[in-house]
Amino acid sequence: MKFKLDIVTPERLVYSEDVDVVTVPTIEGEIGILANHTPIVSVIASGEIKIKKAGEVNYMAISGGFVQFIKNKATILADAAERAEEIDMDRAEKARERAKKLLSEKQIDKIAQADAIAALQRSLIRIKVAQRRSAKTRDLKPQSE
Ligand code: ATP
Repeated sequence: MKFKLDIVTPERLVYSEDVDVVTVPTIEGEIGILANHTPIVSVIASGEIKIKKAGEVNYMAISGGFVQFIKNKATILADAAERAEEIDMDRAEKARERAKKLLSEKQIDKIAQADAIAALQRSLIRIKVAQRRSAKTRDLKPQSE
């Protein structure tokens, strides 16, 4: 049995489909939602969302926000969310290097340090999600290529 999943950011509606299962990273750990799950509201952590739909699995990068499940509808309101195919790998790698460089500086204050750790985390998740997609694309190519 399917249920409706909407993923929304301040900028756009990222995803809106009927799905079988969604796995969401929350501050209390990962939660898996299936149709008829009990109602929940939880705070999203940075991580990857895994969506199962008609035997296909897709991943998305997500950071910050809330997930709500009520009346067989899941709504994710996120600070940022990207489908694997939307991720700009070059940009994520640059963000990772920038954050690493900041963290290696001795004079960094606590707030800047926390910001850099969060930016590093976001970049690593984006790289991981984008790599999952390239692995999937590789697997789909004919053996002779
Ligand atoms: P950057 O330093 O590269 O801007 P960031 O982690 O600070 O990265 P966010 O503040 O999380 O970026 O996101 C700002 C917007 O840019 C959001 O709409 C997010 O979806 C998008 N975004 C960030 N990084 C990427 C990326 N590597 N590929 C595609 N979209 C991205």
